[in-house]
Amino acid sequence: MIMDTGLSSFIKKLPLSYRKLKAIEEIGNEVYTLKFERKHEFLSGQVVAITTDLSIPPRLYSICSGTEEDEMAILFNVKHDGLLSPLLAQQKAGANLHVSAPFGAFLGDEEPAWWIASGTGVAPYRSMLRSGLHQHKKLIHGGRARDSFYFEQEMMAAFGDDYIRCCSQETGAGLYEGRLTKWIREQEVEKSGMKYYLCGSAEMVVEVRDILIGKGVDIDNIMAEIYF
Ligand SMILES: Cc1cc2nc3c(=O)[nH]c(=O)nc-3n(C[C@H](O)[C@H](O)[C@H](O)COP(=O)(O)OP(=O)(O)OC[C@H]3O[C@@H](n4cnc5c(N)ncnc54)[C@H](O)[C@@H]3O)c2cc1C
Repeated sequence: MIMDTGLSSFIKKLPLSYRKLKAIEEIGNEVYTLKFERKHEFLSGQVVAITTDLSIPPRLYSICSGTEEDEMAILFNVKHDGLLSPLLAQQKAGANLHVSAPFGAFLGDEEPAWWIASGTGVAPYRSMLRSGLHQHKKLIHGGRARDSFYFEQEMMAAFGDDYIRCCSQETGAGLYEGRLTKWIREQEVEKSGMKYYLCGSAEMVVEVRDILIGKGVDIDNIMAEIYF
């Protein structure tokens, strides 16, 4: 939801330019990847503002492709009562999108970290992985259903036992049964020398941040990107 805040007027003023849509794929239940022409350098973890039509204010999406890839990609889910995401899902290859230059400060680096995501919040970590930043990382992904673990094969191959899939409403081989907040509560965490990246719903980010601070993690070691 774009709220009437300073951020939403900032987003509305961002210069946008055309990008040809190269491919759209439904990779989960009403969850899509969109690949489009790339015109800018970016840092993994950054976002772009996108719209299909200049009469609709753009929304922000994390880039989920690597910094060295020829095309740029995003991952999004459809909000039925939303303005833009249902339209994005109807786009076909060859369509023109309006896209901003990349920006944002939720940036991956080579330091040891836990990458924590709910839902499509896994997108920036996939960009970081594809940009070669996945060494010394643990990926903790929370989702409701068995098919919520987007890019699962790629993540399993990259992270092995350091890929934790927390599934709150279904069970299955390799899944932790329960919300990711429950999993994090059960862990011993490193209070220094470890960064904690949180990306996804405000509910998850606020709850995990409070759990980590309660376990003694310094707030300076917690990086957050909230999708609203
Ligand atoms: C930094 C950032 C990065 C993001 N990255 C991603 C990403 O990688 N992938 C992704 O899927 N999403 C991402 N998002 C969310 C994305 O920007 C959109 O908000 C999302 O796709 C919904 O857009 P929409 O136009 O479909 O819905 P909107 O029209 O914005 O509506 C969203 C929800 O808010 C409700 N709503 C709308 N207006 C009001 C109102 N006035 N009062 C009360 N409720 C209202 C709607 O009913 C709907 O449920 C990101 C957001 C941010 C801030």
